[in-house]
Amino acid sequence: MTVTAAKLIWLAGCIAWYALRYPHERRARRTAIAARHEWGRERILLAVSFSGLFLVPLFYAVTDRPKFANYPLQPALTVLGAAVFAAALYLFHRTHRDLGRSWSVTLELREKHALVTGGVYRYVRHPMYSAFWLWAIAQALLLPNWVAGFAGLVGFGTLFFGRVGREERMMLAAFGDEYRAYAARTKRVVPGIY
Ligand code: SAH
Repeated sequence: MTVTAAKLIWLAGCIAWYALRYPHERRARRTAIAARHEWGRERILLAVSFSGLFLVPLFYAVTDRPKFANYPLQPALTVLGAAVFAAALYLFHRTHRDLGRSWSVTLELREKHALVTGGVYRYVRHPMYSAFWLWAIAQALLLPNWVAGFAGLVGFGTLFFGRVGREERMMLAAFGDEYRAYAARTKRVVPGIY
């Protein structure tokens, strides 16, 4: 196992992620929006997350910088990272399938927005964010560079903690008791724990 192989596994994961997302992005463009929340702030959070999950590790993958942060590759961590990335992609695919036309990249409500509580949404309220946490963990395991490896946890963590409370308040305002009951029986990202 070489550092180049680990970088290629990381890149393949990112490409597979985009292949899974692309059809949903296209459909979302055709699905009418009923309400958009704090769009400016959302764009900034998305840019931070994109930098941490993609731009910083891409810079490292191409240039091998920042050099001071490189450490020797541990093959067992690379294998584990590949497995965690595969699990993230599978969960990501399931969440898109279950959320259907209710999905948005930012905080939005669609016209005739359906509250989804089935499929993987039965186990946690934010399974798509669980998938992104797994992606960020996979990145830290795959890339033997402290900065590039941990950038995903910092970047996505910023988006997650900057958004999740506001997302829940938006859903509560839109769906009232139905969402309150759903929130009472589910955790956010890890079943039974958080
Ligand atoms: N937080 C969810 C969804 C991420 S996409 C997850 O991690 O799986 C963000 C959009 O999904 C929000 O703008 C909101 O409109 C929508 N959304 C979030 N939870 C939902 C639910 N349970 N049912 C329907 N739509 C939901």
